[in-house]
Amino acid sequence: MIVLSAPSGAGKTTIFRAILEKDPQISYSVSETTRPCRNGEVNGKDYFFVTPEHFQHHIETGYFAEWAIVHHHYYGTPRQYIQQQLDQGFDVLLDIDVQGARQIRQVYPEGVFIFIVPPSIQVLEERLRARKTDTEAAIRHRIEMATEELSHIDDYQYLVINDQLPQAIAETHAIIQAERCRRTRSLFSIQDLLPVS
Ligand code: 5GP
Repeated sequence: MIVLSAPSGAGKTTIFRAILEKDPQISYSVSETTRPCRNGEVNGKDYFFVTPEHFQHHIETGYFAEWAIVHHHYYGTPRQYIQQQLDQGFDVLLDIDVQGARQIRQVYPEGVFIFIVPPSIQVLEERLRARKTDTEAAIRHRIEMATEELSHIDDYQYLVINDQLPQAIAETHAIIQAERCRRTRSLFSIQDLLPVS
């Protein structure tokens, strides 16, 4: 289980898309949200866009591995999909906020938790404006939220500073690759190395 969190505007989406493209062993978990679909987003690929009633029903039926309210909208990770993918041997990548990451850690303590940060709050603000997807009020809210989210940094094992995008992509992927090689995760047995007697 790979959990990526970041204040919005830190470049997380660009980073995980690049990693998904080059690493077929990683499966992306598409979240459900009550947030309206943005220009260019595709239902079922970026998110499953649902009504608040639909989301509420899923909360009540235990459909989510975690869910949270972020920027006034509901977001949740479907439980069944991630477990199926893990069972099939895929690494599952979740793009979720700090509240969701905390819930996932309870269920998957062996997960890899990576926090991506911009080099400064000023750069974050510039990136949010450049996206042209949010109103001024939404941008102000996201910057306030970013400051709050940064206070959860200690919950994560890894920190990637997205100053230069190619380097941030390489570092994030290197973390994932190194975690796969952990002796305690490996299916490899030392017996396979010993001569047959
Ligand atoms: P956005 O609306 O900009 O795509 O995402 C806003 C925030 O919601 C991001 O921090 C993103 O990581 C988070 N988010 C997206 N999907 C989920 C989810 O399923 N659960 C939780 N807890 N957060 C999510």
